[in-house]
Amino acid sequence: MVSGRRFRGGDEQVGTVQITSWDGGILQVSVPMDPPLRQVNSYILPDGEGGITVIDPGPHSAETEQAWQQVLQELNLVWTQIREVVVTHHHPDHYGLAGWMQERSGCLVRMTERAHAEASWMWGAGPPAGLDKGIDGRGPAVGEASGNLPKYAEGSSGADAGIDAGIWSNLGLSFSGSDAASCGSGYGYDEAADGGTDCGYAGAAGKESEGGYAGAAGRENEGGYAGLVGKESKDRFAGAAGRLPGINEVLPRFFASHGMPEHLASEIRGHLESFLPQVTPQPGVTYLHPEAPLRMGGRDWLPLITGGHAPGHVSLYHAASGQLICGDAVLPQISPNVSLLPGSDPQPLLTFLEGLRCLRSYPVSMAFPGHREPFSGFTARVDSLLRHHEERLQQAEALLAAGPLSGFAVCEALFRGRVTSVHQLRFAMSEALAHLAELVRQERAVLTESSSGILFAAAPLPG
Ligand SMILES: [Zn+2]
Repeated sequence: MVSGRRFRGGDEQVGTVQITSWDGGILQVSVPMDPPLRQVNSYILPDGEGGITVIDPGPHSAETEQAWQQVLQELNLVWTQIREVVVTHHHPDHYGLAGWMQERSGCLVRMTERAHAEASWMWGAGPPAGLDKGIDGRGPAVGEASGNLPKYAEGSSGADAGIDAGIWSNLGLSFSGSDAASCGSGYGYDEAADGGTDCGYAGAAGKESEGGYAGAAGRENEGGYAGLVGKESKDRFAGAAGRLPGINEVLPRFFASHGMPEHLASEIRGHLESFLPQVTPQPGVTYLHPEAPLRMGGRDWLPLITGGHAPGHVSLYHAASGQLICGDAVLPQISPNVSLLPGSDPQPLLTFLEGLRCLRSYPVSMAFPGHREPFSGFTARVDSLLRHHEERLQQAEALLAAGPLSGFAVCEALFRGRVTSVHQLRFAMSEALAHLAELVRQERAVLTESSSGILFAAAPLPG
């Protein structure tokens, strides 16, 4: 099934790039990236007529530029043979090189409109046209979706809340080189349907009031986390008068309002800015049509759009073979990060779990993930991720049973000993908040506000 070909770059600094051939003509290319993940999988699908589609080219760096030059040389390809780049989601390790590759090849870069909106929000290209009116009528505008923006209290800080920075204080802010921390894995889901057999946009559009992003927005009125903070967030965005604050400014304040000590929150800004070179230049994007199969490598692939790890994340399914190119929607060994982020999906864990159940309904013979190796046993892997998140919900609930806690305190308890970099801290914090938001939604916890910020408490007993 697999014929592995290995070659080492001419330059020592390049490291090793591996190209592996799979059934159906899929070529897996391991592109280098920063620890803890170290490698992201790109997939090349040759169409048999001299053209190729590249899925998730990787992050932009001198090393990855060189890696791709070597890959093309090894495969006897020239740039113009790259006809399309398909990006599963907007995270830099997947989307980053798309613009650079487009400059060289003139290729189309396809991603979902929702993912592109997220890229604009995260990477500062500015809100795309129509963002203030919603995304293609299917989802809320990024501003409207930001039900998770906190009521930010000026001057609030974790220190004031008496939170011991404890385990975070030893952050050397250098990467550990270990990939043990699953919370650092990076990226997850969004636009799920309600667990039916079609988790694509088409399904989500048809069930707008039930699931997916639109559903998440609809849930805003039901109270819970999004309901509490949604109004303010709309006011914030509406009042910005065309000058939206960047995520670099908003996220540290968001974390601080949930108890993260200021000195740690302030590291987040520089951390986010450090990703900009990895996503520069940004591509001109052609939106992936959610209802239409995508022709790649001479075969038709069904786009399955889910979320929770990243809004608008697309997996690509080839029904006849059961092959699924799944980005970071489902990963082997690693639990894809599920992040609550301001300006994004207010219920990311719900969306993620709905997406998992939806993907699970497809017969998958072999999954081609964004990290680690292609794997079979897809259903078992999905089940284990579902269990993992329920266990983590229970852990968070048990913590609150002892008394109200800030999001940061819960994060600290959940991820104790596993956070060794600001990168991991960001993922751990936003993942803890995603779980807390889900507990609130399920009425297993409630939000309270104190002078020192937002706290989560066990839900009062019924009656
Ligand atoms: Zn990734």
